[in-house]
Amino acid sequence: MKMQLTWEELHSEVQNCHRCRLGSGRMNPVPGEGDRQSPLMFVGEGPGQQEDETGRPFVGAAGQLLDKMIAAIGLSRKSVYICNVVKCRPPQNRIPEMDEAAACLPFLRQQFLLIRPKVIVCLGATAGKALIDPEMRITRQRGEWVLRKGIWMMATYHPSALLRDADKKRPAWTDMQALRQKLQDLGVYEKMLAKENL
Ligand code: SF4
Repeated sequence: MKMQLTWEELHSEVQNCHRCRLGSGRMNPVPGEGDRQSPLMFVGEGPGQQEDETGRPFVGAAGQLLDKMIAAIGLSRKSVYICNVVKCRPPQNRIPEMDEAAACLPFLRQQFLLIRPKVIVCLGATAGKALIDPEMRITRQRGEWVLRKGIWMMATYHPSALLRDADKKRPAWTDMQALRQKLQDLGVYEKMLAKENL
């Protein structure tokens, strides 16, 4: 892969990719979508059935809950970018294997290079392990900020986990408030709000 792809090249490579076994079972790859100049990226695990059918990230029940989490800090999909560690649906929505995540990570890195976010929120343990700490325990490490190469990163619960266990909602909302504070501290929150009102 070239050092730096354009968006068109990236989407074309993802569309034709068969670098891992997930490429053979997908209906549509799901590269990601949102504001390509956003200071904030959300990274989930992988596409589910509805995402596979539509080619769009987080459009099922978990996606609707993610929308509510984002709305809780006054924002929407208009001002953030949303994608996943793997771009193709794992069969039966299983957790992506390590080698699948590793094969797909260069695409995510290209997205980081193109977007240059200031903050990345990992949704769930798979993204947290891929981007923050391979040994991540989400219940213990959620809400902790780490600074990597000038990007603030934090993991919180995946919205699917909140759908399964309502007790996780309160800590997830606490993490979202911490996210808003971080965006304010970095001086980017007001600009994002302004985009919301365009
Ligand atoms: Fe390629 Fe990623 Fe899809 Fe695997 S999951 S086939 S690496 S785009």
